[in-house]
Amino acid sequence: MILIDGKKEAANLREELKKEVSQLKTKYNKVPSLTVILIGDLTPSQIYVRNKEKSAKEVGLKSEVIKYPDRVEETTILNKIHELNKDETVSGILVQLPLPRHINKKKVIEAIIPEKDVDGFHPMNVGNLSSGYESSVPCTPLGCYLLIKKVEPNLSGKKAVVIGRSNLNGKPMTQLLLKENCTVTITHSKTKDLKGECLKGDIVVAAVGIPELVKGDWIKKDSIVIDVGINKTEKGIVGDVAFEEVSKIAKAITPVPGGVGPMTIACLLKNTIECFKRLQS
Ligand code: NAP
Repeated sequence: MILIDGKKEAANLREELKKEVSQLKTKYNKVPSLTVILIGDLTPSQIYVRNKEKSAKEVGLKSEVIKYPDRVEETTILNKIHELNKDETVSGILVQLPLPRHINKKKVIEAIIPEKDVDGFHPMNVGNLSSGYESSVPCTPLGCYLLIKKVEPNLSGKKAVVIGRSNLNGKPMTQLLLKENCTVTITHSKTKDLKGECLKGDIVVAAVGIPELVKGDWIKKDSIVIDVGINKTEKGIVGDVAFEEVSKIAKAITPVPGGVGPMTIACLLKNTIECFKRLQS
């Protein structure tokens, strides 16, 4: 059984990105830069943003965090985004989610120009991804995709089952697998016989948010299992996959923590660099 080491893969990716940033600096005499807007004082968001900033600096990117109090007006945020859109020194813009209730998430996502949308949430990027064109791809599914490709470089003809259809994870994951010529089944809370669907998968990606939903007898022998879930339980953080049981059946599996999570931030840095390159051309 292959234990897919997301920490190691993320460190390797950061190392590659660091080299790329150095080459870009030589070529353009500037480095990609990421601006993160953080609203409010939710602890998990603060931790994510701190980690993003630290990783960005590690690979040589410029990074800035702009903080606003919880009660900031929506127009203040939209105006700041418009300003950053025009700022030639900014390559990527990210507004940390979740937002306070009085701020319209759709308006915020659509305010960021697609060229600087490092999260890949703008409808233009979503459309480009589903049309098979170049686009920013949401960081977590991009990380899952890179991990799957490490285990199995040729995915053509494989049967993939994605559990969850969120815009953040399930849907873009499906598009990435489809682009690789997988036959993809996307499942959700209304799916009948989820176990039966999972049993058909050469690849199973679980992005649900239910602790240890996917059991050992849901998984085909020699499948690749990617666990996106991060669930706080009495026994600590667990994924959407019952790791002990499934790891006895699967060919390869990501642990939680230490699987998909570390890849997410590394992919954000990758997306920032891609945005920078597209803006230069
Ligand atoms: P979400 O927006 O809540 O979506 C969950 C999806 O799971 C929905 O499509 C839902 O179906 C489906 N679902 C719910 N119950 C189900 C069931 N019993 N059987 C089958 N499908 C079911 O969640 P998300 O934002 O995609 O996040 C999913 C998990 O990933 C969470 O644990 C989150 O913390 C974690 N996460 C991890 C990372 C990372 O970096 N590792 C990043 C983001 C999120 P419906 O559409 O029918 O409601």
